[in-house]
Amino acid sequence: MGDHMGDFVEDCLHSSGLRVEQGSEFRCPVCEARLDVEGVQRWVRAAEKARDEVYSLIEGDGSRLVLEERQREVYRRRKVLYELRDIPRSVAARPEMILVSYDVGKNAYECRIFYEEPRPVWGLERIGVEAELHSILALRAHPDPNVRLASGKVEEFHAFRQHSDGREGYSPQRRVFYQNEI
Ligand SMILES: [Zn+2]
Repeated sequence: MGDHMGDFVEDCLHSSGLRVEQGSEFRCPVCEARLDVEGVQRWVRAAEKARDEVYSLIEGDGSRLVLEERQREVYRRRKVLYELRDIPRSVAARPEMILVSYDVGKNAYECRIFYEEPRPVWGLERIGVEAELHSILALRAHPDPNVRLASGKVEEFHAFRQHSDGREGYSPQRRVFYQNEI
């Protein structure tokens, strides 16, 4: 069976699933591996191959259990792949809270989107954007509707900061938007 089986057992199984990163990359939160869509497809095929290897082994209860286990792993990986592809379904979830903070050094906003569990597979958790109106407005064209939603909150906070900056020494660094404001 050799190296392939060894890899299958030893490598990270990405058992918490994969998260969407900016660009078209996916990241495993456990091992920090980054995969593109083809990488995810290869990951599914690796599980299929590991399952097929069991077919050629001797019969018996032991190999049947291994086969079932590997088949489950194939299903699990396929599900991850389908969920990553299925944007409209997974982004239907709305954020529970959006935190916008201003980084003076970078002159940029960091926007964190918090979801109720289970968190949508496709949902971005963290967006960085320059503290300039045109950069913020560019997020309105983002494919993820929750990023578009969050961009409106960044825009709101940006306008508020511009307006209140310097007045009575008050310059807000962060703002939390709760569900009733989103
Ligand atoms: Zn991993």
